[in-house]
Amino acid sequence: MRAPALPQLLPWLVAAVAALAGAALLASSELKDRREAFDTNARIAHRLLSQRLVQHDAVLATLALLNSTRADQPEQRLPALYAQILRVTRREAGQAWPDADHAQAEERSRQLGHAAISALDTRSGQYDLVLAAGPGAYALRIDMAQTVPQDEWPLPPGRSPAQVALALPGQPPFALQTGQVNGGGLGWPLHFDKVLASPSQPFHLVVSQRVGPSELPWMAMGAWCAAMVGMALAWTAWQRQLTRRRRAEDLLRLGQVTRLNTLGELAAGLAHELNQPLTAVVANTQASLRLLREQGDIDPTAVAAMEQAVAQARRAAEVVARLRRVIERPAQADGLPSVVLQDAVRDALHLLEPECQRRQLATSVEAPAHEVRVRADPVALEQIVHNLIMNALQAMEQMPVDQRRLTLRLGTEASMGRLDVIDTGPGLSPAVMAKLFQPFFSTRAGGLGLGLSLCDTLATGMGGRLSAQPHPSGGAAFCLTLPLATP
Ligand code: ADP
Repeated sequence: MRAPALPQLLPWLVAAVAALAGAALLASSELKDRREAFDTNARIAHRLLSQRLVQHDAVLATLALLNSTRADQPEQRLPALYAQILRVTRREAGQAWPDADHAQAEERSRQLGHAAISALDTRSGQYDLVLAAGPGAYALRIDMAQTVPQDEWPLPPGRSPAQVALALPGQPPFALQTGQVNGGGLGWPLHFDKVLASPSQPFHLVVSQRVGPSELPWMAMGAWCAAMVGMALAWTAWQRQLTRRRRAEDLLRLGQVTRLNTLGELAAGLAHELNQPLTAVVANTQASLRLLREQGDIDPTAVAAMEQAVAQARRAAEVVARLRRVIERPAQADGLPSVVLQDAVRDALHLLEPECQRRQLATSVEAPAHEVRVRADPVALEQIVHNLIMNALQAMEQMPVDQRRLTLRLGTEASMGRLDVIDTGPGLSPAVMAKLFQPFFSTRAGGLGLGLSLCDTLATGMGGRLSAQPHPSGGAAFCLTLPLATP
């Protein structure tokens, strides 16, 4: 009946697992949302930057097409139209570029059929885009930082935690924006790396971001964990109430059986006590009657009264004898079920747990690892164990709290199972020992003195035995033996 330790822990284990699993689910869902938002933004940034770079090719293509030799050089107005174009230079036919880089880029452009990058400076974030056009060539000086479109840009600088960089393979990257680092190195990294859709400027767009621990949904996770703890608390409280109710029901049932049995014991005790006096009344009255008759002068009314007394005493003796026959239990040791002594002890201790706690009692059970199975009526055995423990508790009430110790020792002895109930109470004096199992013997104020005599009757009825002796430690030791189920 008493719940072992694991079932008591189980709701807490379940709550802990559910709390952790729920919190992990919430965190991973938040991370998933953030990853999706990051990917979407990075893809938008990739599209916008690709469009910008393609614009440079279009500008150069237009310049090559017009191949203007006008003295007012209209191409010099381009920087005013495009913020990222810093300068436009032109190599006339027959002239040479001032540096070899441009000459090589023009050569590459002629071979590839599209513009080529020259003089990339990743510190300032500038490069030239050179396009060979007929005998001459054009070059645009591009400021990479200005290629980021202000509107539509999904990663607003200063607010977005994302770091955005452009890089050519084998070259150091140029940071378009540095972002904000969250959680100082801790957290979950997000990364995007894709070549921009411009064959002439094949920069990699590298976007990285770190989701810091502070960005997890701690409120929701905390609320979920609190809900799980609340559920475990409610479950435990409900279980505790259930145990209390069951214990109260068991005690009530045991009390009813005990009252019935005590009534039987009471009747047996009365029959035993009354039998002798009634026999004496009959014998003495008959002797007196005989004496009076021998003396001759006898009052017939007195004779009738005495005969009446004898008849009534006989009737009373008969009632007592009938009572005795009615309450006498047949020995039933053979048909009894097999009961595990450990279970009986555990159940009785569970029932009396509040009593033990109230008396601040140290309880220990010493039992062999194997089950001790005895033949017994489970209710009668429960009654005996309950009674012995209750007597021990009452006996120890007069002792200081730190000296109250109850030991229940289980074992086997020949073909019998054995239970010793040992307490550290005042013990058993020779005078008490002499009358211990007699009905109506009690030293307790208000005690009926039928408990031990009933236990003795029940034990004997099951083919067992109940005995008592003072324990060397000063208390009392009661020993119950019952036939083993499998001797
Ligand atoms: P009751 O409890 O009504 O007195 P019992 O038959 O249970 O009746 O006990 C009879 C008497 O035996 C008690 O009054 C007490 O004097 C003595 N007794 C029983 N158990 C113990 C014990 N563990 N230690 C000392 N005395 C005991």
